[in-house]
Amino acid sequence: MEEIFYISTRGSEKKLSSAEAILQGIAEDGGLFVPGALPKISQSLEELKDMNYKELAYCIMKSFLTDFSEEELRECIEQAYDDKFDTKVIAPLAKKEGAYFLELYHGPTLAFKDMALSILPHLLKTAAKKLNNHKEIVILTATSGDTGKAALEGFANVEGIKIIVFFPEHGVSEVQKRQMITQTGDNSYVIGIEGNFDDAQNGVKEIFTDSNFINQLKNNNYMFSSANSINIGRLIPQIVYYFYAYLTMLRQVEIKTGETINVVVPTGNFGNILAGYYAKHMGLPINKLICASNENKVLYDFINSGIYDKQREFVLTSSPSMDILISSNLERLLYTLSGGNTNEIKEMMALLKKEGCYEITSQMKEKLNDFKGGFASETETFEAIKEIFDKTDYLIDTHTAVAHSVYKKYVVQENDHTKTVIASTASPFKFTRSVMKAIDEQYDKFSDFELLELMARLIHDEVPNRIKDIDKRPILHKTVCEKDEMKTKVAEILGI
Ligand SMILES: *Cc1c(COP(=O)(O)O)cnc(C)c1O
Repeated sequence: MEEIFYISTRGSEKKLSSAEAILQGIAEDGGLFVPGALPKISQSLEELKDMNYKELAYCIMKSFLTDFSEEELRECIEQAYDDKFDTKVIAPLAKKEGAYFLELYHGPTLAFKDMALSILPHLLKTAAKKLNNHKEIVILTATSGDTGKAALEGFANVEGIKIIVFFPEHGVSEVQKRQMITQTGDNSYVIGIEGNFDDAQNGVKEIFTDSNFINQLKNNNYMFSSANSINIGRLIPQIVYYFYAYLTMLRQVEIKTGETINVVVPTGNFGNILAGYYAKHMGLPINKLICASNENKVLYDFINSGIYDKQREFVLTSSPSMDILISSNLERLLYTLSGGNTNEIKEMMALLKKEGCYEITSQMKEKLNDFKGGFASETETFEAIKEIFDKTDYLIDTHTAVAHSVYKKYVVQENDHTKTVIASTASPFKFTRSVMKAIDEQYDKFSDFELLELMARLIHDEVPNRIKDIDKRPILHKTVCEKDEMKTKVAEILGI
């Protein structure tokens, strides 16, 4: 098997093994790690067809983590995709209204982040062991709501690791917030910030690249890593479920071998859809990757114009995990589009920082045609929830609703009837207020927690165990800070 190395999108010379890249999280030059080349899958789709999720995860991930032994990787996979998930299938596919909803929310925190964050702690621990790292690892994470909880869940009480999560105090749903501030675990710290997700993400990136602070950390026997999708160890596990969805369709004879499908992904930081893009370029027959945005439609504009412009009003929407104006993982796409021209990337990223805007070259624009951009307004998002529910009794969350709305508009505009997978990124139980309000305005008078019960009744189901009684659990994290205090808070926690 071909060995895969990881390099920075901004061109620092060193080639790293996957273990090194995962442990480090982000490159020292501020760039993101990317595989030097995308591996091709050695088995045919027919051969992969009957594998269960874990077997498939092994086949896909081993082609990226070539420095992990078979035993190491299999052990990580075993520990990740176990009965933490409420279905053996791990990622079920539900056919509704002509589309295929890939339910990625059956993990412990009810959002797709669990797909990667249930395995990342194991990959990281294994990487640290392989590399003889004896420093205590500090996971520093910015969250728009779902990453934070999924990371806390994955890293709580893991020996040798501390986890610190920053979330926008006024930018997440009640259930999301409560999930985080009730987190137990001696090694877990959760802090609200007076700012939005971009502020949190920028703050974290700044701390990561502050060489004085990093040195101070080293002297105290600590090192940073990241649980955000800037960590390549987050991205690789996400490639698996695109293959899994395709193979499920093949198994269920919804498609023929080799038939292409479209994929719609509700997008924020561009991690999930980038994993789909990688899957396509590894040989999975995907036709269009449809990038669905909410009213923060910076990616929609980018895909249509080749101009990335974050200078616009930041809108708080009902799909908060997509309320992002700086999509970090786009840098990885630019790397591929530019044919690995790291100087070009460096220039564009400097422009983004300085001017808030950059434009890609015309050659790069041509290669953007794997993608199609779409966006849904708040009204359209609510309409999508109601429409699907009225027709099929199937309840989708606000993020998935953005994707469904974009999908419907795409089919009409392009007259493209290719079979389509919609990435269902969260359970409706995480966004009770918005979802129930979409069904009937009358529900708005109830509290978010009362709505959990009402939602369960509506779909003749039970409130998922993981969030049952969440309003009765003790609040363990009460710190809120200004966005320029993040570093101080980290120093306080670590006692440095
Ligand atoms: C994080 C998240 C997204 C956006 O995914 P990206 O990988 O950041 O593009 C969409 N929906 C939900 C529910 C999420 O938690």
